[in-house]
Amino acid sequence: MRAVDIITKKRDAEELSQSEIESFIAGYVAGDIPDYQAAAWCMAVYCRGMTPEETTHLTEAMANSGAMLDLHDVAPFAIDKHSSGGVGDKTTLVVAPLVASLGVPVAKMSGRGLSFSGGTLDKLESIKGFNANLTIEQFKRQLRDVGIVVAGQTHDLAPADGKLYALRDVTGTVPSLALIASSIMSKKIAAGADAIVLDVKAGHGAFMPTVPLAIELAGLMLRIGKNLGRRMSALIGDMSQPLGLAVGNALEVVEALETLKGNGPPDFRQHCLDVSAEMLMLSGLRTNPGDAHLLAVSALDSGAAWSKFCQFIVAQGGDIAMVEHPERLPSAPLVEPVLSPRTGYVARVDAREIGFAVMDLGGGRARKSDSVDSAVGIKLAPHAKIGAQVKAQQPLLWVHARSKQTLDAALARLQSAYGFSSEPVEEPPLIHKIIREGEPNARL
Ligand code: URA
Repeated sequence: MRAVDIITKKRDAEELSQSEIESFIAGYVAGDIPDYQAAAWCMAVYCRGMTPEETTHLTEAMANSGAMLDLHDVAPFAIDKHSSGGVGDKTTLVVAPLVASLGVPVAKMSGRGLSFSGGTLDKLESIKGFNANLTIEQFKRQLRDVGIVVAGQTHDLAPADGKLYALRDVTGTVPSLALIASSIMSKKIAAGADAIVLDVKAGHGAFMPTVPLAIELAGLMLRIGKNLGRRMSALIGDMSQPLGLAVGNALEVVEALETLKGNGPPDFRQHCLDVSAEMLMLSGLRTNPGDAHLLAVSALDSGAAWSKFCQFIVAQGGDIAMVEHPERLPSAPLVEPVLSPRTGYVARVDAREIGFAVMDLGGGRARKSDSVDSAVGIKLAPHAKIGAQVKAQQPLLWVHARSKQTLDAALARLQSAYGFSSEPVEEPPLIHKIIREGEPNARL
């Protein structure tokens, strides 16, 4: 099968067969197909799209390009959750131990932050000693012994995706639904979980800017997962403003710890309960959302989720004293408020600009190789999220900075992050939609 024939077939909007897709991916990973042909193929896919069947074949081919984890010798059933990324999204830190504390094994491979969007591993690594680089043997042993493991993706999993993503990044072909869905799902499939809850974010602070696009992506990933034998459900979460109040690695850990202790900002707590309830339903522990919510609340309020979190941190080498005394987590020397320029209703809290301001502070990375400063970030005022009424000169947020220079850069950017209205403004919903197997239009 010649690569050029596969490229021209897709260029002409024809459907590729499973063997054509497999041979193209295998040839690319082996180095037999050069980058220029793979780039042309990505552009053809970007322009012509793929059917869900083609996308499933692509996902399978990429997953099969490396090791495929089988967790069944250590856990008869394991669940994973995936967030498509956003600003202030520290949900994994709460839902993974919550669900694990109820006896459901949670096996998760997470990523690092990139651009305005944060990453779970960066947050966890603000706890001194936390080791995210586990071997596959360590990953499985911890799943068996502790019932929860969160680690970085090993290079052995879905290597085709790593190679293809780097190419997409420099050829303008990242924003293709088929390529995004297969990229995410290939890693999830290779990581071995039996069930996956997708937390697909929609809004200006997410990669999917609108709710319809997020629904389309979620629907496609759900279909791929089901085609490949996984139990799946998806939530479409709002990312028009940051989730919770903290943005920045150590600040987000503190907020997650508060939530694990039964407190935390109401929107973040509610979102964690919604995601946990989906995970509990998919695990078969409860069959309806109301009961699943009650079970999730009991795990938070009884302290079970908190104890499991502590166990998990210790198992991965983290300094438990920092968890028990969050004031010992890294903190920034300069803290400066941003004041409201007027009285009115908050109409816009631009999650993307806030994410970029955290990057200005050194808390995010522009390139994968950049290091991050755990201590810096932004803490929003609880009274200044969308829909709230604020008075002139009330603080909207506090910037936590390492230096005067980065503080000034963040302050300049944040000038345009808020919008106000003289009329009351409705709060955005936390969850726009839930898509469950056999129940495609379910809503909360
Ligand atoms: N995240 C991924 O893992 N892949 C994409 O293509 C986009 C987001």
